[in-house]
Amino acid sequence: MTITPLMPVYPRCDVRPVRGEGCWLIGEDGRRFLDFASGIAVNSLGHGHPVVVDAIAKQAATLMHVSNLYGSPQGERFAQALVDVSFADTVFFTNSGAEAVECAIKTARRYHYAGGNPGRFKIISFSNAFHGRTLGTISATNQPKMRDGFEPLLPGFEVVPFNDLAAAEAAIDDRTAGFLVEPIQGEGGVLPATPEFLTGLRRLCDEHGLLLILDEVQCGYARTGKMWAHEHYGVTPDILASAKGIGAGFPLGACLATENAAKGMVFGTHGSTYGGNPLAMAVGEAVLGVVTAPGFLENVTAMGERLRSALEQLIPNHDHLFESVRGKGLMLGLRLKIESRDFVAHLRDNHGLLTVSAGDQVVRILPPLVIDESHISECIERLSAGARSYKVPA
Ligand SMILES: *Cc1c(COP(=O)(O)O)cnc(C)c1O
Repeated sequence: MTITPLMPVYPRCDVRPVRGEGCWLIGEDGRRFLDFASGIAVNSLGHGHPVVVDAIAKQAATLMHVSNLYGSPQGERFAQALVDVSFADTVFFTNSGAEAVECAIKTARRYHYAGGNPGRFKIISFSNAFHGRTLGTISATNQPKMRDGFEPLLPGFEVVPFNDLAAAEAAIDDRTAGFLVEPIQGEGGVLPATPEFLTGLRRLCDEHGLLLILDEVQCGYARTGKMWAHEHYGVTPDILASAKGIGAGFPLGACLATENAAKGMVFGTHGSTYGGNPLAMAVGEAVLGVVTAPGFLENVTAMGERLRSALEQLIPNHDHLFESVRGKGLMLGLRLKIESRDFVAHLRDNHGLLTVSAGDQVVRILPPLVIDESHISECIERLSAGARSYKVPA
């Protein structure tokens, strides 16, 4: 037998974290890493945040799980809190981002079904998008590495170029249900939608009776310095998928919708065994409390600006390697002149700095949202030392 007990779908590196302390991870061998990856934009409050730890301990001792067969005072409270801080009127809770996107797709199809247009099921999505790994969500991307060997995928998806409004418009036909788009693409390379593109999609939705579905699994929930990334654009969605930062490390996702968009989601149309259980709701409430406390978003914005300008100042000193910085708030991408994967490994293995590669040539920088200036200096020192010591592959 050569297969490993952990199904070998991840090329795991030699960093083997066993403990976290704030913005730091400690490996099995005692090494310390500055964690500017945050479990890919998940650990928004760092590791071991006392408010989260306390909420989990208390709720676990009180009531962890009951079925959605029963009333949920915890779920009602957290859903109301999300409605209060968003465009939405209603929320379905999931355990992951992909499930939140699945719920969004189902909600959009049911909307047209309930409106007497069952033939309007097609979702238009965008090149380099990432929406998760279920059969439905891989049907909404054009990335071969995620699709190959899993065909036939779900019918009713069409992928057109990101940030190309004319292509999006041309793809609309009488079977179209809506658009599914990340306001800032994460896995695709920290690529923000242009304002013209996102506002244009909203306009096309209004003109054609379509639904705008935003995937804010990575870019939402305070990551960019606003509660939701679409607030930067002044665009309001009909449906939104949230996850990652919403649970700050606890598996939690949510599909948010307006009352109109959710009109098809009636008794029996959707469900989840774990989704929205009391433990998840307690964590969600605790995290939301921290993120909406006065000054939290302002700190994300301020730290984002500092980090960005520090990164920009590094570029001329290492211009054989670094090209540009993009992104918003604390969702930043350092674009390299070369492939990023090997450089990310170099920073990790030789300089104790954790980042994530994105696209082909981008180093994704996703620190916990609770960083202060000392973490930024630490990151910049390590990055700059890493750039000096890095031997660009021939
Ligand atoms: C991570 C991610 C997902 C999938 O979330 P999972 O929790 O891994 O299922 C979906 N969309 C975007 C934009 C993501 O970044």
